[in-house]
Amino acid sequence: MKTTTEQLYQLFLHHTVISTDTRKIAPDSLFFALKGDRFDANTFAQKAVEAGAAYAVIDNPEYALGEKFLLVDDVLTALQDLARHHRQQLNIPVIGLTGTNGKTTTKELINAVLSHRFKTLATQGNLNNHIGVPLTILTIDSSHQMAVIEMGANHQKEIALLCSIAQPTHGLITNVGKAHLEGFGGIEGVKKGKGELYDYLRQSESKVAFVNSDDATLLEMQKARDLKNVVYYGKNANPDNLVSGRLLDNSTFLTLKWNDRKSSSYNVKSQLTGSYNLDNILAAICIGCFFGLNCDEINQGIEGYQPKNNRSQIMQTATNTLICDFYNANPSSMFVAIENMDKVQATHKVMILGDMFEMGAESAVEHTSVIQKAMSAQVDERIFIGKDFSSQQSEVQNTNLINTTFYLTAEDAIIGLKTNPITNATILIKGSRGMALERLVELF
Ligand code: ATP
Ligand code: MG
Repeated sequence: MKTTTEQLYQLFLHHTVISTDTRKIAPDSLFFALKGDRFDANTFAQKAVEAGAAYAVIDNPEYALGEKFLLVDDVLTALQDLARHHRQQLNIPVIGLTGTNGKTTTKELINAVLSHRFKTLATQGNLNNHIGVPLTILTIDSSHQMAVIEMGANHQKEIALLCSIAQPTHGLITNVGKAHLEGFGGIEGVKKGKGELYDYLRQSESKVAFVNSDDATLLEMQKARDLKNVVYYGKNANPDNLVSGRLLDNSTFLTLKWNDRKSSSYNVKSQLTGSYNLDNILAAICIGCFFGLNCDEINQGIEGYQPKNNRSQIMQTATNTLICDFYNANPSSMFVAIENMDKVQATHKVMILGDMFEMGAESAVEHTSVIQKAMSAQVDERIFIGKDFSSQQSEVQNTNLINTTFYLTAEDAIIGLKTNPITNATILIKGSRGMALERLVELF
C-alpha cells in the first residue's frame, strides 16, 4: 500500500524535522530517500531508521522492511507534495525571489530588514532548487509570520514548479541576464523561464510583484502579462516608485540616499561593495516599506547585513584589498563587476577573471566580450584564467595587451602570481564556482 500525501502530513505534524542525509539524521525525523546522480538513498533507508529516523520514505518496495518504511511512487514528488500541502495550511505572506543575479544577496537583505519587525523564515544559504525549496517550506512553523524563499532555475518550468510548492503571495525577479544559457536555450529562454514567477503571480489579483522600474526587460515582461498589483522601486526618481534611491558613495562600501513616497529621505551605509548591489538594497528597502517597517528598522537591517559568502565580499589582507567574488560568474555579473572596478577609487587595480561555465554554444562569444569589456576598463592589470578565456586570446590580439596575462589553469596562475606577487592593490577575483578561485587568496 502506498502512503498518501495526507498520511505523510499527519506524520509530519508529529515528526516535523526532515532528513535526507544518513550522515546527519535528526532524531525522530522523517527520512526521505532521494536519488542523486551517483546514489539511490533507498539503499540507506534502513541505516536512517537505525540512526534514529522515525520513518523512512522510500520508493523501492525491496527496502520496505516493516512499518517504519513508507512506500510512495516517487520520493522526490512525495517531498514536494508534502511541502505544497504544508504551505497550503499556512496563512502567511511568502515572498518568492528569482532572477539571474543577486537572488541570495537580495534574499538576505530582505530577511535582514523584515526580521526587524517580524519572525521570518528565509532560505538557508542557496537551497533554492527542486529539493531545497520544499525542504525550506517544511521548516516554516506556526511561529513564523513571513517567509522569504529563493528560487533558482537553469531550465524551463522549474520556477513554475517551485511556485506551485512555495505559492508566493509576493514575488521579485531581481533581473534577467545571461546565465545557464545552455539549459534555458539562450536569453529569450531565460526570460521565459524566470517569467514563470510573473505567470504565477498573475493568477490572482491579490498577489504582488515588486519590479525594478529601471529594468526595461522586467518592465516588458511585466507589461506583457499585464500584472495588476505591481510595486515599483528604482534608482531613477520615477513617481511610480514606492522607493527610490541613489548612490552617494561607492569607494568601498555603498552608501545611499533613499526616499519613500512621503519624500522623506534617509541615508544608509551598507557593508556591501559593487554598485550592482544598489538594486538589491533598494529591493529590500522597498519590501520593508511595503510591509510597513519604519526607516530605522529598514536602515538597521541594511546596515547590519554583512556578506560572508564570497559574493562580492571584501577581504583585507596585510597588503591588499580583495573583492572576493568567486562564488559564481556569468556574462551579466561579469559585466557589472568590471564596470564596478572601472569606477572603484584605488591606486592600483587588478582584475582576475576566471572562466564562466554552462555557456553552451555562446561560450566563445561571451568570453570574448568579457575580455573586451575588461580591456576597456580603467584598471592597471588584468589576469584571465581558464581554457575558455585562453582560447579567445587571439580574438583580442589587436587590442593593447599590456599588463594582461592569460593562464590556462588556476594552477598555472598560482605559479605565475608567486613569481610576480601583487601588493598594495585592490583586486577583484571572480569566476565560476568550478574554477575555485578561492585557491588564489593565500597569494595576496
Ligand atoms: P545563484 O544563481 O548562484 O543562486 P544568486 O542569484 O543567488 O546566485 P548572489 O549569490 O546573490 O546571486 O550573487 C552572486 C554574484 O552575482 C555576486 O557576487 C555578484 O557578483 C553578482 N550580483 C549580485 N547582485 C547582482 C545584481 N543585482 N546584478 C548583477 N550582478 C549581481
Ligand atoms: Mg543564490
